[in-house]
Amino acid sequence: MGQRSGRQDRSKKLELALSETMEAGAGVQNNQEEAEELKAKETRLTSVFGMADLKNGAIGLYNLGQTCCLNSLLQVFLMNIHFTGILRRITVPLYAAQQKKSVPYQMLLLLEIMQRGRDKAVRPVDLACCLSAHRVKLSVQHDAAQLYLTLWNLIKRQMKNPVLVEDLSDLYTISIQEHLACQKCSFEIKSNSSMLTLPLPVLDSNSHMLKTLEDCLQCFLHPEELTGQDMCFCQQCGKKTPFLQRMKLVHLPQTLTIHLKRFCFEKPSATRKLRHYLKFPQDLDFNAVLTEDQCQADDNEKATWQYGLFAVVAHSGSSSYGHYCAYIRSLTECKWYCFNDSEVCQVSWDDVKCTYGHSNLHWRETAYLLIYMKKHPQ
Ligand code: ZN
Repeated sequence: MGQRSGRQDRSKKLELALSETMEAGAGVQNNQEEAEELKAKETRLTSVFGMADLKNGAIGLYNLGQTCCLNSLLQVFLMNIHFTGILRRITVPLYAAQQKKSVPYQMLLLLEIMQRGRDKAVRPVDLACCLSAHRVKLSVQHDAAQLYLTLWNLIKRQMKNPVLVEDLSDLYTISIQEHLACQKCSFEIKSNSSMLTLPLPVLDSNSHMLKTLEDCLQCFLHPEELTGQDMCFCQQCGKKTPFLQRMKLVHLPQTLTIHLKRFCFEKPSATRKLRHYLKFPQDLDFNAVLTEDQCQADDNEKATWQYGLFAVVAHSGSSSYGHYCAYIRSLTECKWYCFNDSEVCQVSWDDVKCTYGHSNLHWRETAYLLIYMKKHPQ
């Protein structure tokens, strides 16, 4: 969570390594019964392969006690047919103890239950227990951007199969090049980094509220002078000098997640939510928004930079207390749904636009994560 004026946030890299370690195969019991149970489960899972995705909408997830954030993110993952296409290819862990601890496997089971569509909502208890075994706290207020990263890292780490790991990375990771140039000499450093989300400021450098997503993108990619305390050590000059820092977009993934930094750290312990009006489009063509020097990509790459909005994770309330829900456009039906825990309803684009924000309406839902989908993948 966070809106910071400093540089640290902007160059926040994708935390690919999780501190949690998975103790593989703990308490393994090898018996005939388990093998048979496994076989049956595998057969069941195979039966859903190739089935159309959550077509008739939209199954809710019961709130298990402050799990609205988790529920919203799970819906965003499971309604993404590109993600479920990868999830369905995982190798089912051999033993029950491993299955219980495998986040991808538990997500697959949940998808299967939701897909059966017997009930209007499902209780994601097993997945919640699994996450809790990986130190994901459940009965606390989560920040959706952080939880999204945690979930994604857990899924990636536990997929094991290198081909799937690569597919998952390709599907979600943004590549950025950072240029740092000494302002006293010609010394320049270029470094590449990957991100799961594009963390966009919602205030400009003078703390003015930005009004459109396009402005936020421009602000994020605007070169910034690092002076005073922010000066860097220049190898060529042999001392700390002012630097010019700029970001360039190298590669944009099929599923592009944008994090609107609406939570602003004011004092060390105080966080404020910026709930002002900020418009985002349903169709986003990065080539029309960015200038040539904000990209480090060839024409083939740039030809794919046309996106359609797929999901909005919205937050209502304050920075310390609130509620999350997700607006998702079904990729198979092309209809918008609002997933509010166990309540799911079809909505219009006008309803989604209500998440643009309003400074005076504290309980109005405000878009926090925007997930765009490439229109014409390569
Ligand atoms: Zn220098």
